[in-house]
Amino acid sequence: MTKLSDLPLRSNLVGKQPYGAPQDAVPISLNVNENTHPLSEAVLDEIVASLAEAVRGVNRYPDREFIALREALAGYLGHGLDASQVWAANGSNEVLQQVLQAFGGPGRSLLSFTPTYSMYPILADATDTEWVPVERPADYVLTPDSVTEALRSHQPNIAILCGPNNPTGTSLNLEVVEAAYDACDGMLIVDEAYIEFDQAHRSAISLLPGRERLMVSRTMSKAFAFAGVRLGYLAADAAVVDALRLVRLPYHLSALTQAAASAALRHADEMLATVADIRSQRDRLAGELKSMGYLVHSSGANFLLVGGFQTPAATFEALRAQGILFRNLDIPGHLRLTAGTEFETTQLIEAIRALGPGGAS
Ligand SMILES: *Cc1c(COP(=O)(O)O)cnc(C)c1O
Repeated sequence: MTKLSDLPLRSNLVGKQPYGAPQDAVPISLNVNENTHPLSEAVLDEIVASLAEAVRGVNRYPDREFIALREALAGYLGHGLDASQVWAANGSNEVLQQVLQAFGGPGRSLLSFTPTYSMYPILADATDTEWVPVERPADYVLTPDSVTEALRSHQPNIAILCGPNNPTGTSLNLEVVEAAYDACDGMLIVDEAYIEFDQAHRSAISLLPGRERLMVSRTMSKAFAFAGVRLGYLAADAAVVDALRLVRLPYHLSALTQAAASAALRHADEMLATVADIRSQRDRLAGELKSMGYLVHSSGANFLLVGGFQTPAATFEALRAQGILFRNLDIPGHLRLTAGTEFETTQLIEAIRALGPGGAS
């Protein structure tokens, strides 16, 4: 049987692991930060109707520039943006990959502040871009001074600030974004995959005017409860969008994706109606875990990074065996716990309580 090591793989991919959060078919699946609430039947009917219409035209390629969808995304984002300043792809992961294809590559570097989203180093490897991880302070909070120092000394070609940060939940202040922009000459991405959950912080989209190297990426995979459709997007200067058009594959967004996302955006308020409940489940989860003695890091997202587990791997496996899945990211003593529906969150809380102090059963 042929092994991977028998193949003439690119050297920077040798020994690497693909992205691989478990996809177990368990009753309570809280490990990839999805919105676990179902969409309303009325909105689903509208999406199905749009798909039915789109499917009649699939003998033709879809609109390569997906103008109608970009207009809908610009309308949703506000801030006076128009379609020329908005881009989209199959998940924000593909948007980020296109950014790396356009602005990274051999001899270039990508910097971010760790622990952070596990896809950044994978995307760097895939595009032969040097990965430069800079550790966050103990409380995970970035400050203007700390990012300025890191960006001045490394001068990366691309920097990513994830806010709220996955997997720590840490919110991002706009002064940090402004300082990061001023401290380097490279491209700066603010990854706002979870921004809809963060009531206390403003989007970096307000900083775009006059900052042509700044990009703000978003996704419909989390708050929008639309992960299966694969729709991520980005707001930036129109010249940045022109750069991404150089590397995208022609017709990368299928007619079905465009139709589903456009229909969903016509009902954005209903799509986002469960966000308030998820926030309150997150806060209830935090309160219960604190009362059990766990260390709960403050979070602006739909998940919590929680410390105080004696053996996170054992706690992970014990609850997995009970059909409850969350994420063990190899941060000593910590697990990442995502808020689900009220029922799911209660099940998670009670299962952890039953394990006893420190998750020891
Ligand atoms: C989930 C997530 C994304 C979104 O990925 P999609 O490809 O849009 O599904 C992007 N960034 C971060 C930090 C995430 O956690």
